[in-house]
Amino acid sequence: MGKPTGFQEFNRELPAKTPVAERVKNYNEFVGLYSDEKLNQQSARCMNCGIPFCHSGCPLGNIIPEFNDAVYRKNWEEAYNILSSTNNFPEFTGRICPAPCESACVLGINKPAVAIEEIEKHIIEIAYSKSLVKPTAPLIKTGKTVAVVGSGPAGLAAAAQLAKAGHSVTVFERDDRAGGLLRYGIPDFKLEKWVIDRRVKVMEEDGVVFKYNTEVGKDIAADEITRSFDAVVLAGGSTIPRDLKIPGRELKGIHFAMDFLKQQNKRVGNSPFTAEDILATDKDVIVIGGGDTGSDCVGTSNRQGARSIKQFEVMFKPADSRPSSTPWPSFPGPAVLKITSSHEEGADRYWSINTKEFLGDENGNLRAVKVVDLEWEVDFLGRPVKFTEVAGTERELPCQRVFLAMGFVHPQFEGALETLGVELDERKNVKATEGVYRTNVSKVFAAGDMRRGQSLVVWAISEGREAARKVDEFLMGHSILESKDGVNEFEQAY
Ligand SMILES: Cc1cc2nc3c(=O)[nH]c(=O)nc-3n(C[C@H](O)[C@H](O)[C@H](O)COP(=O)(O)OP(=O)(O)OC[C@H]3O[C@@H](n4cnc5c(N)ncnc54)[C@H](O)[C@@H]3O)c2cc1C
Repeated sequence: MGKPTGFQEFNRELPAKTPVAERVKNYNEFVGLYSDEKLNQQSARCMNCGIPFCHSGCPLGNIIPEFNDAVYRKNWEEAYNILSSTNNFPEFTGRICPAPCESACVLGINKPAVAIEEIEKHIIEIAYSKSLVKPTAPLIKTGKTVAVVGSGPAGLAAAAQLAKAGHSVTVFERDDRAGGLLRYGIPDFKLEKWVIDRRVKVMEEDGVVFKYNTEVGKDIAADEITRSFDAVVLAGGSTIPRDLKIPGRELKGIHFAMDFLKQQNKRVGNSPFTAEDILATDKDVIVIGGGDTGSDCVGTSNRQGARSIKQFEVMFKPADSRPSSTPWPSFPGPAVLKITSSHEEGADRYWSINTKEFLGDENGNLRAVKVVDLEWEVDFLGRPVKFTEVAGTERELPCQRVFLAMGFVHPQFEGALETLGVELDERKNVKATEGVYRTNVSKVFAAGDMRRGQSLVVWAISEGREAARKVDEFLMGHSILESKDGVNEFEQAY
């Protein structure tokens, strides 16, 4: 532990953000960095607990007290080595993770948790600035080849780990650049895209080959991939959006959130797109869906100069602090009210509201939505059971743009999955059990949202790493790659 009394001396502090009025003028990241002194103080708050629950709170099993201690001692190489032993991409998680580790922090029981996510971001940025981030692939290769389908965080993590194990890795990506939802979902104001390019460069130096504009199952046959490579990792994400099939759905002005967000990210990144412009400028916008995607639509609409923004959530308003259904150290997720940086920038938020109909004008353009308030019945733990409409609350709210941000139902089946004959689970995700990551098709593995269903970046990285280890075992009989608990089966056997 850096400083035994640190948690008593220092309060949790986060780096300053650019004021709202300034940051909404552009798409740049707006969270600053700590001064050296502040970083030192924040790392000193870690108590090096007897049982550091943050380890198991983090899906990657990050070794948090140890890296906090190294940061306190300003041993950047040690901090980076500890962090990168469990997390391939701290520059992503340090910016956009909802930090389940902090929900599990022991200090969080009666004080604000250690600022683990920010410390993580500082470690990796300092590591890059000191040229500590280097290729890790061995000089002598195994002679085995692996195809990774999809370059989101799951595919990238699998590729990075497989290259580290000495395999020759090719990543197939249907988009024009790498990153998956990091590139073409999450806005630049949360994650600037040079951060992805910088990482891809390191991976290329590691020998990973990226083939862009190449959809497996369309531009290249899926069975050609299985014939040409010794193993395949499917990491295509969960891409089919949940629709709202109510009267008026065909009106002009109603879009899936991803069509809106992807286009804006392409605009910022100077990537060409052929679709018609989807813009919120001078419009009354309604975002249907209260999660991360909805929040990103709010931030993007504000930057485009929307006249007004409303965000709807069908569920009731969450509690301000943990409800009894998610006690410490569990991750409360949506059970606790989240006020994102995009909400700080301005939007009227509505809870317990149902959209019943889209209303149009004589030209087929959206002019309003018909809504009704809901009353929720909850169980003894406060979990929703069923809702009823509140009589007399039906009304019209004017709007010219609606963004549907209600999540994703499952991966795309047509194309690669269909040709390969990959079995699906009851939720229509790829069936490959956790801990095995292997599908019913010989030498084909799956990871990330495609296997798990829509989730988080930190889970995608975890899945990619674990799947890579299973591929390595499959190819070599044992694996030299780290497992989540830091001890691989090969080491255990000896
Ligand atoms: C708008 C939005 C905001 C989000 N914000 C956050 C956040 O703040 N924090 C967080 O932790 N999580 C967030 N998430 C969730 C997170 O982005 C995902 O859980 C994560 O990206 C999943 O990673 P993945 O690699 O499994 O899939 P993806 O990131 O979806 O990547 C899949 C890739 O596979 C490619 N692909 C698919 N099929 C093929 C094929 N046949 N051939 C070639 N390529 C193919 C796709 O083009 C894509 O690049 C957000 C999600 C969205 C939509």
